[in-house]
Amino acid sequence: MAGNVTLSRKIIDYAWQVNNFRSEIERMINNLAIHQIWMDQAIVLAKEVGAMGEIPVGAVIVNSFGEAIATGVNRKERDQDPTAHAEIVAIKAAARLLQDWHLTGSTLYVTLEPCPMCAGAILQARISTLVYGTDDPKSGAIRTVANLPDSPVSFHNLEVIAGIRDLECQELLQDWFKNLRK
Ligand SMILES: [Zn+2]
Repeated sequence: MAGNVTLSRKIIDYAWQVNNFRSEIERMINNLAIHQIWMDQAIVLAKEVGAMGEIPVGAVIVNSFGEAIATGVNRKERDQDPTAHAEIVAIKAAARLLQDWHLTGSTLYVTLEPCPMCAGAILQARISTLVYGTDDPKSGAIRTVANLPDSPVSFHNLEVIAGIRDLECQELLQDWFKNLRK
């Protein structure tokens, strides 16, 4: 009898674990779909700004309720401002809107892996999650050339999700540079 009790206990535990695991997978699939939707928005912004002669990079900041609170595009050429990267533009707009530089709980979507300046700003703003499209082999400071979020300069835990719409984001840049050379 005791053996049967142990066995049924084990089955219940196992069923519970499987159920938890399934919920976790469902949550991940759901999040992935959400990330793709926001990244599509960032891609649209990047394309628009690419047509204006700027390197096409777009960013969207979404709050913890899933609402977009700010967008940003690369404005370096138009503003003749070396700090006018899409992420910085979006972070400034979000902080201005909220009248608070703490962007804790928010997610920043950007088509290209952030550079050291933008990675620093993302950490300074206490953004909770960074979702980016494609790696930047020249100045990516999240994992490709350097890793600021996991370095001692980082004082909070930044969740990083890379490779959302990777191919689209990569082609967007490649096509832009190809047209430039024509
Ligand atoms: Zn940057």
